[in-house]
Amino acid sequence: MSLKEDNAFKSALKINKGVESPSSLNSDATKRLRKLDVGRLSPLEYFVGIREGNRTILSKAITLVESSLEEHQDTAQKVISLCLPYSGNSVRIGITGVPGVGKSTFIEAFGNYLTSIGKTIAVLAIDPSSTRSKGSILGDKTRMDGLSKNENVFIRPSPSAGSLGGIARKTRETVILCEAAGFNTILIETVGVGQSETVVHSIVDFFLLLMLAGAGDELQGIKRGIIEMADAIFVNKADGDNLPKVNLALTEIRNALHLFNPDESGWSPVVESCSAITGEGISHVWTVISNYLILAHGNHYFQRRRQNQARQIMYQAIENTLLNHFYRTPVIKKLLKKTEEEVLSGTLSADSGAKIITEAFFNKP
Ligand code: GDP
Repeated sequence: MSLKEDNAFKSALKINKGVESPSSLNSDATKRLRKLDVGRLSPLEYFVGIREGNRTILSKAITLVESSLEEHQDTAQKVISLCLPYSGNSVRIGITGVPGVGKSTFIEAFGNYLTSIGKTIAVLAIDPSSTRSKGSILGDKTRMDGLSKNENVFIRPSPSAGSLGGIARKTRETVILCEAAGFNTILIETVGVGQSETVVHSIVDFFLLLMLAGAGDELQGIKRGIIEMADAIFVNKADGDNLPKVNLALTEIRNALHLFNPDESGWSPVVESCSAITGEGISHVWTVISNYLILAHGNHYFQRRRQNQARQIMYQAIENTLLNHFYRTPVIKKLLKKTEEEVLSGTLSADSGAKIITEAFFNKP
């Protein structure tokens, strides 16, 4: 990282008044740290580097989080624990939409607007399909070219494909690290295919769906469940000859949304249009999000949503650990195939099969 970038990043840290420097910060330690091989840092050194806004160290820490090596995971978990008290001070925004809707063009325009009003941004991505080269949705710097040069923006390519649960965990942990580094706005992009939207929804405070006008039946293009999750829907490409189609799409989507029950937040999803190319409506997206934040902080839904997410994560983690342990138990491994065959051949009922397996687990020596 150049000195210029480094300084700019430090100044970006100052913008985030909500984050206090930890008393353990020691500038000598940071100087030493810069000379060290970041692959061998201690958890505390990672933490200090992250809090000082050292992007190289932040990137390396994220790499640790994404690593499946046990020793990396050990260090990563310690770094996360240290960072946790300094996290949470951001607005987490999920952005989804089908490929081609203009997500990266939108994030470029939106990101530049946000930095122009003093925000510091981390852009993350979730791409479990990994259809792009090397599973990296943002790795190609030509997408968001301008934004990647913006000194108040940190763009992190998506982790390589893995299980959705794994990707969700890595993304959540990456959010913690980015927040501890002082970024006050986290944008999480997801490709609008498959289940990734559900994962993003479980991480973010605000979920923005980008849609296209006139691309077939507006509401069939994207699963109904995703529309229900959206806090705002913006029809992108509202420019030039496309405008009449956009207006039609807005009416259709608004009508369809009337069919849904109101959200428990008290917020009614907003349906508007924008153009990531001309910039029309881009600042309005932030106005909508700001209005949402005023409402959700006012009625404490913001906190409840985060608490619900944390609760869900805890129980999911418990279930995953227990299930992994269960299926790895030798007696279960041995018995499972045989019992499954009996169930499939009709000699044993499915319920009896399950009973045999679970009893074998509980009665094992
Ligand atoms: P993504 O796959 O959702 O990330 O979409 P991209 O950002 O790569 O955009 C897909 C195509 O749509 C590109 O050719 C963009 O130039 C174009 N595009 C994106 N936003 C707009 C817009 O607001 N108006 C118009 N006319 N084209 C746009």
